[in-house]
Parts: sequence; C-alpha cells; structure tokens
Amino acid sequence: MATEQHCAKPPKLPTIFEESSVSNRPKYRATLPEDLLQFIKTESKRIKTGLGRSQYEALLRCPSTTTEFPRDKTKEPFLNDMLSIFDDLLFGSTIPARTSLKFCGTRKSMLSRTLGEMRASGEHATVTIYTIMAIGKTHTERLWHCAATLLHEMVHAYIALYISHDHERRAKPLAVRGDSGHGFLWHDIAYVVETSFNAVTGAKIDVGRQMALLRELSVWPKTDWKDVNTVEKWGLEPEWLRERVSRKFSEAVEAVRKSSKK
Ligand SMILES: [Zn+2]
Repeated sequence: MATEQHCAKPPKLPTIFEESSVSNRPKYRATLPEDLLQFIKTESKRIKTGLGRSQYEALLRCPSTTTEFPRDKTKEPFLNDMLSIFDDLLFGSTIPARTSLKFCGTRKSMLSRTLGEMRASGEHATVTIYTIMAIGKTHTERLWHCAATLLHEMVHAYIALYISHDHERRAKPLAVRGDSGHGFLWHDIAYVVETSFNAVTGAKIDVGRQMALLRELSVWPKTDWKDVNTVEKWGLEPEWLRERVSRKFSEAVEAVRKSSKK
C-alpha cells in the first residue's frame, strides 16, 4: 500500500491546496450515520474547492479509465493500488489499515452473479473480488469493472467499521444496513463517492447503485420505502424506479401465490 512517506518526491502543492488533515474523523464503531455521511461529504467538497495533500497525491496516482493497460497488467496489483487511491481520494484515508483485499478467480457459486463481497470481523474488514466475473470488451474495461466493484465494497467496509453499533441496533433497518447491506445510508454514501470520483477523474464508473436499490426495496413492505420518491437525491429517476419496483412487487406477490397453491 502506498503511503505518503513512501513517495520519494511529493508533488509541490499549489497554495490553494490544504495541508491539514480532515478533523472529526469517524470513530471506530461509534459514529452515527449522519456523521459518517457528513465526513464523506466533507471529503467530496474538498475535491471541488481545494484538494487536501493526500487527495492530490492520490489523483496523481490514479490512471485514466481509458488508459490502455498492457496485457500483463494483472488485476491484483491494479486493485491494490486502487484501494489506496480511492481511500485517500474519497474516504479520508480511513479504510485500508483495517481492510485486506482478496482475489478469487472462480465463481462463488453457479447462481451468484456477485462480483465482490465484504466481511467485517472484529476491527478488520476483508473485501473479496471475484475477478472472473468482471465484464467488458477490453482488458481495461474489465479492470475498471473490478475497480467499480471495489469502490462498492469499500462503502460497505466504511459503514461496517465505523457505524455506531448501538445506534444500528435501534435504527430502522432500511435506514442503515438494509436487508442486503444496501440500506439508505449505503446509498447516500455510494452516491457521493461515485459522483465525486467521476467528477474529479472524468470517468463514468458505475458502482451498481440501481441494482442494489432494487434488490433492497423489493424485500421491504411499501410502507417502509414510501420515501422512494426522494431517490432523485441519488441521481435516480423516480419514474423508472417506481415502474421497476412495482414489477418486483408483482413478481413477489405472484411467487407467494404460487407457493401457497403447492
Ligand atoms: Zn453491496
């Protein structure tokens, strides 16, 4: 993992760049959801108004999404670099010290279409990337598909490592963890990190927010997700989502009908 002291010659920062690190860093397993989101928003704001030193150096290390990587550029070193870059650029350097990255060249199961997963245990999170599931026409596209998945899983790791467990026990599940880990907090944070990354790099990476939301909402009663009308705050179209969600509900109702006939 690259750290600042390993940089032989840190680039000279223009005076606009801030030298100090972010205050109010999240506290391990004790931070409230709104503070977790606020920390990420603060990092994101610095991207627009004046990068911090770590962010600036991360940006210099970040390849373009159209960079033609040589065929022998394997996914593992690329993704290890991206873990460190995403962390410094978007997460205020809060994640890698507690996170390890694993790679798996086989499918988790024949049914699973998951490209990544995150498990948190104790003070440590492990992100596994199923590299064989990456799609794309070119080697570069497949690398970036894996990178987008890594970013998706880093949002899970950030929440799992820092959220107040006390609060989580009391909060409505959909507001925080959700059924599959994609509760509204995940969406609030994933929206900020995806749009910030794309804005600062000119990339168009997609961390899978739409499918994650559909999967999550399809398991909740309508009364719990009536706030679906506010999905515009995540850059999603309410009409599209309403149509997809009602279809999901029809499918769920149909499945219940079928199983009750048996
Ligand atoms: Zn996920």
